[in-house]
This record gives sequence, C-alpha cells and structure tokens, in this order.
Amino acid sequence: MFHQIVSFHEVQWTEENILLLCDIDHTVLHNGKHTDKEGFDQMLLRLKALNGTFLFLTARHWDEEEITKHQLKYIGIPDSLLQNIQFAGHHMTKGEFIRDYLSVEQYARVLFIDDFPEYLESTHILSTPITCYQFVSEKKDN
Ligand SMILES: [Mg+2]
Repeated sequence: MFHQIVSFHEVQWTEENILLLCDIDHTVLHNGKHTDKEGFDQMLLRLKALNGTFLFLTARHWDEEEITKHQLKYIGIPDSLLQNIQFAGHHMTKGEFIRDYLSVEQYARVLFIDDFPEYLESTHILSTPITCYQFVSEKKDN
C-alpha cells in the first residue's frame, strides 16, 4: 500500500531523524524540468529542521553519476544533495538495494517516494516498514 501524491507538500512526518529516499526520474525530474520545486524545497527545509537524512535512490547505473549530477544541478537541486545519490542500477529492485546497502534500522522512520509502483512494492521484503509515496502527475480516484 502506498499514498499517491501530486506534490511533495503531501509528504508529512513529525519525527526527528528520519531517512527520506527519493527517486529521480519522473519523480523529481521530468522532461528536463523539476516536477515540483516549491514542494520539494519545502520538504527539504522540514527535513533539515527535524535532523533528517536525504538520499536520492535511482535505478540509474553509477556510470551515469556525472550526467545525473549535471541534470539535478540544472533544475536547482542544491550542491549538498548531489553527493547523496544512490545508484541501484537495473540488476536489483530498490527494495533489495535498500536491504543490502542501506542501514535503515538507525532511523526513526523511512519514507520513500517513487513514481514506479513496482519499486515501492519491492520494499515489502524489508524487515523495517517503510512509508511509501507514489509520485503521480494526476491522482486516480480509488
Ligand atoms: Mg522513476
């Protein structure tokens, strides 16, 4: 189960020390443009105020690091976040990547935003529950 959101304003939490995982393509970046700069920047301010941690989690391969950083910088992503990109590649699901490479137990809660339902569903294998948001351009009715 996950929440469908059309803006990052809808990502809400109150705890300190959360981990926020955010996909890149079709979530933050679409057709070379930011999908929701205002909502994203507000979300980051909240995260900073609550001592949270931010990571981009992309299915791009690590050899696309330079072009990815360039594209994110172009849409106004702050330099400090350009170091925080995890490249899962296409050989595993994002759930498997989180399980194998990220120590999520140390956080009060983990939030994960992605446009691709299969990646959100792949987190079901984790022993730590994750709050998932599907970023969509238009909400469906159910
Ligand atoms: Mg995506």
